[in-house]
Amino acid sequence: MASKVLAGDRRAVARAISLVEDGSPDLPALSEALYPRTGRSYTVGVTGSPGVGKSSLLAELVRVARAHDRTVAVLAIDPTSPFSGGALLGDRLRMQSHATDPGVFIRSMATRGHLGGMALAAPEAIRVLDASGKDVVLVETVGVGQAEVEVATATDTTLVVVAPGWGDSVQVSKAGILEIADVFVVNKADKEGAPAAVRDLRSMLRMGRQQPWDPPIVQISAVAAQGIEDLWTAIDSHRRFQEESGRLGGRRRRRIVDELKGMVAERLRQRA
Ligand code: GDP
Repeated sequence: MASKVLAGDRRAVARAISLVEDGSPDLPALSEALYPRTGRSYTVGVTGSPGVGKSSLLAELVRVARAHDRTVAVLAIDPTSPFSGGALLGDRLRMQSHATDPGVFIRSMATRGHLGGMALAAPEAIRVLDASGKDVVLVETVGVGQAEVEVATATDTTLVVVAPGWGDSVQVSKAGILEIADVFVVNKADKEGAPAAVRDLRSMLRMGRQQPWDPPIVQISAVAAQGIEDLWTAIDSHRRFQEESGRLGGRRRRRIVDELKGMVAERLRQRA
């Protein structure tokens, strides 16, 4: 299976992700075979409250990535079930235009048997997609709880999406996602209140401590396909900033350390 995944075989990739979901006993051997061939994808996490337009935004990002000749994988993290209906079915419809493109792989994932939960399952699934040779891996998390935040930060660039009129400024500060955003996206800029949302975010950012990277705030409209190029550019600027400052390697190493700590804690918990 590993050699098929490395060759980009879609069915093998899908089956490998099912092994991750199930927490299969075959998983360590598969991960071991894939790991040396990872690290080439650029990973982007997308988080934000339900309804802000994450899936609409992802469909647009896929389009722009393809226009830039990049291959893309989308991993939608669904904490409940891959068949939970509504929202995810909606995603699939919007994503339908990409579904037949061999340069795009779309998959939603739940944790069925993986004992480490999403925090430990997501990095393994991301590595499968990375090893399969996709240039960009987009990871969507539903909601803004602690687990979602963890998954969204287990990537190279984290996007926090808000929409006007959702009281998101409050949610952003409460959930501590102000700190994790590398890029803020104000979606639904076609609606009233987008400039106010931008102002809110700006003033909240000014209150925080100075960081070497100043997270940009990008206004987009996913349904009107506006501002997506700007968003792509913002993601690329963050990537270049991290590469040129040597931070990308550090961020990835920290992720591995966190993951290992999580695995050790999980094993200890099981023994207890
Ligand atoms: P998610 O729950 O964050 O994934 O949000 P969805 O992508 O499912 O979008 C939620 C709703 O917002 C849907 O009805 C979308 O059509 C709508 N929506 C998404 N993006 C925009 C936008 O840019 N402008 C407007 N007006 N509506 C949008």
